[in-house]
Amino acid sequence: MNKYKDAGFKLTPQRMAILEYLEGNREHPSADEIYRAIRGRFPTMSFATVYNTLDMLVRKGKVIELTIDPGKKRFDPGVSPHHHFICSKCRRIDDIFEEFDVRFASGRGKKYRVTGHHIEFYGICPSCLEHERAH
Ligand code: ZN
Ligand code: MN
Repeated sequence: MNKYKDAGFKLTPQRMAILEYLEGNREHPSADEIYRAIRGRFPTMSFATVYNTLDMLVRKGKVIELTIDPGKKRFDPGVSPHHHFICSKCRRIDDIFEEFDVRFASGRGKKYRVTGHHIEFYGICPSCLEHERAH
């Protein structure tokens, strides 16, 4: 948790618990999932506290907000560049650490200074495919 020492915000026990829950978490949880996971330790903590903390972490660049799931915002503590795959059956989101050669086909790209891109893949995940085959 030392990496949050100079984060520029007060580390209340609730915020600490949210950070700890997110640390190394590859599940891309929603605010509600995070709230349900830690509220047992903080019975007086409101959902708004979790939501506001996530909002602050996103603004400080500590967490990325994903919009790939139209049902709810999902949060990602992995801030190194990567892409995502969402399963339309189980809503699981996988990290895709792979390079893709993405470029403008037209000359329009010349007008922009592109500093990055994020690809959202949609489909069926390996375990849902396996389940499909077994039935
Ligand atoms: Zn799936
Ligand atoms: Mn991710």
